[in-house]
Amino acid sequence: MTTEQSRPVHARPVRTASESRSEELAQQASAAYAERHAPPWAESARLAAEPKLTCPRCGQDDVRLSRSRGLLDRLAAAAGFKPQRCRACRTRFFSMKHG
Ligand SMILES: [Zn+2]
Repeated sequence: MTTEQSRPVHARPVRTASESRSEELAQQASAAYAERHAPPWAESARLAAEPKLTCPRCGQDDVRLSRSRGLLDRLAAAAGFKPQRCRACRTRFFSMKHG
């Protein structure tokens, strides 16, 4: 009986696909954990980080979500747009949803 066939002592030469996959899952899990346990100020910080909408007509950033009130708005919402209204010049326009 010989011991020539013993296990190689080299460390694992390459990372396997399953390893990087489980690492990815771990990252997702920790992200989900951070979201569940986010402090109260995290939400407003996240909102503040979003790019500010500006009115395409007057350039003001005093823009608020407009209430949906019609077929067009509902179609736009289904397509991923949100109705906005500029409070400075009353222009209504649509913006892409964030996230
Ligand atoms: Zn405007």
